[in-house]
Amino acid sequence: MGRNGSAARTRMETCAVCGKLFPSGRLYHASSIRPGIFELIRQDVGGWSLDSRICGPDLSQYRRRYVADLLEQERGELSGLDRQVLESFEKGVSSVHASAAGLDKELEGETLGQRAADRVAAFGGSWGFIITFVVVLLCWMTINVIGFLGGGFDPYPFILLNLLLSCIAALQAPVIMMSQRRQEEKDRIRAENDYMINLRAELEIRQLHDMIEHQMAHQWERLAELQQIQIELLEGHQPPTQPPAKNSS
Ligand SMILES: [Zn+2]
Repeated sequence: MGRNGSAARTRMETCAVCGKLFPSGRLYHASSIRPGIFELIRQDVGGWSLDSRICGPDLSQYRRRYVADLLEQERGELSGLDRQVLESFEKGVSSVHASAAGLDKELEGETLGQRAADRVAAFGGSWGFIITFVVVLLCWMTINVIGFLGGGFDPYPFILLNLLLSCIAALQAPVIMMSQRRQEEKDRIRAENDYMINLRAELEIRQLHDMIEHQMAHQWERLAELQQIQIELLEGHQPPTQPPAKNSS
């Protein structure tokens, strides 16, 4: 019945999973599905066999579950990031865009204090800071040693200068730590972003691999079917219009 050429192309068949009718060309043959996914469907669907057909949406759903199982086996447990990637994968949207937008938002949401800490830490770690500081120290000492400007407000052991330097050092340390923590946070977000992109690429490649495998199996099936039709035509039901070609050679 399936070998009726053009008639077979428009025939409707049911999907074994959801039971809806589809044009047979849009259904996937059970024999062309990866063994792992095949087993997964067999656990769920009662009359699932090698002759069954499945529709695209159902197949992609099972494929997602299969990939999720694979990931779970490899990593033990799915993290929130893995789940996010899987969801974006199922929806067909790019997770890269979503997470990149999240990164921007997180960086935009910094407060005035955080930005100030960044600036101070950046200035504190520059040659400009060192040179300015040395110049200020030298000025302070010269003024007080020579007795310039009213005879030295902070004489030789420079006790006031000492106090000032201690205060600056005490304040600088927490500012630098704050800035470092924020830098770490940014790095973490970027690393998560990278991880999601990599995982998604891996899944994408797996799916492509599946698709190519499916295409090849499908094509092979079609070729075999065509050959069968030709053999049947040659064996018995030769149409009356064909014979003259035989005599000419
Ligand atoms: Zn279906």
